Amino acid sequence: MRRKLIAGNWKMNGLSEEGLRLTEAIVERRLRAMEHGSEDAESCELLICPPFTLLAQIRPMLGGTGVSLGAQDCHPAASGAHTGDISAPMLADLGCAYVIVGHSERRQNHREDDSLVQAKAQAALDAGLTPILCIGETEDEREAGKTQEVLRRQLSGSLPELKSGEATSLVIAYEPVWAIGTGKSAKNEDVREAHASVRSFLEERFGAELAREARLLYGGSVKPETSASLLAEDEVDGALIGGASLKAEDFWAIAISC
Ligand code: PEP
Repeated sequence: MRRKLIAGNWKMNGLSEEGLRLTEAIVERRLRAMEHGSEDAESCELLICPPFTLLAQIRPMLGGTGVSLGAQDCHPAASGAHTGDISAPMLADLGCAYVIVGHSERRQNHREDDSLVQAKAQAALDAGLTPILCIGETEDEREAGKTQEVLRRQLSGSLPELKSGEATSLVIAYEPVWAIGTGKSAKNEDVREAHASVRSFLEERFGAELAREARLLYGGSVKPETSASLLAEDEVDGALIGGASLKAEDFWAIAISC
């Protein structure tokens, strides 16, 4: 049984004061739920991915809360002459368990292609981190009826090699580019179709058993009002949340709608 994952991608938001306040507010809600033995505390795994600058300050706040820590990107190399970059072993050393790779904002703003994303995902696995590999079609591609083709191409180019047992450490986030930060969420039937196609690609590539274990998230304008019906879909193993993860009450409302 795949446990649902609700992941907050803070993007480039949060100076210390607000980042720590947001973390505190999420942690408080989680601890209160745990204290009351509420099912809300266990129903899903919570993850926050703050900017690099806050990771070290936030890490000690998460102990004993069951809220995991993740980063938003990593370099494919473990170390070396890469000024300004952060490697996967550095993130593991900071206490991160996850790292987002291939987010469409990085693909667009930093011209990241599938082979670079694949190298990052591989570096994450090698460092013991779980990569959250983002894929998704643009509006033009969707209108041209190319969604499935784009997803398969991105998966084919950016999936890392998996060894047996590592599939539980693979998370794919289907994030249609046209839905990110636009307020336009994909319809449940579109998400269902996209996730089914991702699952079948994983099956072809890694076999049925490994494919069954990987978690498939949806991302793109997820809000508390729409999350329950989305998360009730069998093939939706959680959500990657941008804007709504910056408000503790919204993030928590999505988490307890699992
Ligand atoms: C994202 O950036 O991964 C995302 C899903 O953003 P939003 O929820 O704001 O659309």
